[in-house]
Amino acid sequence: MRNILGSISTIKNFMGNAGRNTCNEYLYNALLNAIESMEMDVAMKPIEDSCEEKTHYKCKCEYIFLTKYSDGHRMGNKPNYCERCGQAIDWSQVG
Ligand SMILES: [Zn+2]
Repeated sequence: MRNILGSISTIKNFMGNAGRNTCNEYLYNALLNAIESMEMDVAMKPIEDSCEEKTHYKCKCEYIFLTKYSDGHRMGNKPNYCERCGQAIDWSQVG
């Protein structure tokens, strides 16, 4: 099984130890891209944004997945991935 969090941590440590200089600029940028892609695969909980009448569940990119109204009405759904930015979403804490 892939250990994405472990790999991200290993790469970040490596980058910290190696430092950044003109000789490794391409490798450094490639590693930054790799980390960014890997972090998109680590499911994050949707961000809750609520007022009295409704609660939005949204992505870090502000895309709104689901809105729950205080009267019980719902709009939207619970996608596994954000359709705008591709971030993996963890809905395990949302009823
Ligand atoms: Zn998004």
